[in-house]
Amino acid sequence: MRQHNIYIGLGSNVGDRIKALRAAITRLSRELVIVKISELYVAAPLGYVRDDAFINCVLHAQTQIAPLELLSVLQRIEIELGRQPGVQYGPRPIDLDILFYDNLLVDSPLLKIPHPDLPKRAFVLLPLAEIAPNLVHPVLYYTAKQLLQDADDVRSVQRYLLPNAPAQARASV
Ligand code: AMP
Repeated sequence: MRQHNIYIGLGSNVGDRIKALRAAITRLSRELVIVKISELYVAAPLGYVRDDAFINCVLHAQTQIAPLELLSVLQRIEIELGRQPGVQYGPRPIDLDILFYDNLLVDSPLLKIPHPDLPKRAFVLLPLAEIAPNLVHPVLYYTAKQLLQDADDVRSVQRYLLPNAPAQARASV
């Protein structure tokens, strides 16, 4: 069976966010072949990182899992990592979104691909453009890099460096 190229957005805004992102990536690696993972990004205007700010990353993976089944896998991992089912907005230990699935277009009540919020979310476009700058949006026909150039809130998103990152890297944020 053919391998499909998928891009998943990961975010966490409650609890030990780095631990939750790591746990999600570990679980995803049991289900998918992970090709590339972006750095971490945080929406942090004025350089002040709030405790409840979303920390985000994007990963590229390959899979034979069909789209709706993939959504179920992601939702199962979200719940395993502490998400309250049925709560759509607000704090969540982990949020997993299917951004792209090959060039497939899906528009059903349960699942929309490409993810409809992608073009307006700099905190997703930044990590996506980092790992796949030339990836073309199959509806808008812009690359990830071009979508990022058009995004409004790019300056409010910055790389999130782990506390033990080298000082030189931290200073460059
Ligand atoms: P959220 O609270 O943002 O995680 O949204 C969850 C809801 O979005 C779920 O009920 C999903 O069925 C729906 N959904 C629609 N399209 C997608 C997608 N591409 N990836 C993840 N969830 C999606």
